Amino acid sequence: MQPVHVQKDAYQLLLDAIDQGLFRPGDRLVESELAERFGVSRTPVREALQRLETQGVLARDGRSLVVASLDHDQLGELYVVRAELEGLAARLAAQHAAPEEIRVLWEMIEKDRELVHRPELLGRANKRFHRQIHLASHNRYLIQQLEMVNRTMALVAHTSISAPGRGEATVEEHSAIVRAIEARDGDAADAAIHEHISRAYETRLKLGLEPIPGEGEAEVEEEQAGQ
Ligand SMILES: [Zn+2]
Repeated sequence: MQPVHVQKDAYQLLLDAIDQGLFRPGDRLVESELAERFGVSRTPVREALQRLETQGVLARDGRSLVVASLDHDQLGELYVVRAELEGLAARLAAQHAAPEEIRVLWEMIEKDRELVHRPELLGRANKRFHRQIHLASHNRYLIQQLEMVNRTMALVAHTSISAPGRGEATVEEHSAIVRAIEARDGDAADAAIHEHISRAYETRLKLGLEPIPGEGEAEVEEEQAGQ
């Protein structure tokens, strides 16, 4: 079973690299360079590239493979699906989360308060927080669907959290979600996470449109590169 294990590693390494913004939409991926970079042989890298192409994370540009980019419509379509699936996860978590899982969510929020001015770290913590809610839904098929959405979200790396004020807002919105889950109020949990995803999408759209005068123009450039 060793080859399967190695194959999975190359796939995960590559996906993580895209998720962390090491490779951006439009960047060309070369099998031999990736094999060297990750210290694995070319066969698992080739298989990982094929799998990611099938999943739409990579696209053909002539004879080369590049990281796919999402256009304006695709971004909107992705956020609609994400909001509905996250809403369902929060609703189910309100029904099924163990008290221990809810305590873990509160601990995450407390730690995240210290990261509000460190967007890179908060971005990663945000993914872990949502993953924890997915798990608390206790529905494996929903978790699978959310993994698919998250894979595509890797193409919009450098999250909206880097926008001014979004760090603090994110933590507050997360608190509202967990309060509703703890109160076992599925409707409120669904509504709170919809609001959270909607704000994140709105921020992304603003970042993608034009630089806000006097605010982080370098970040705006990165955001545009990410779409
Ligand atoms: Zn979030």
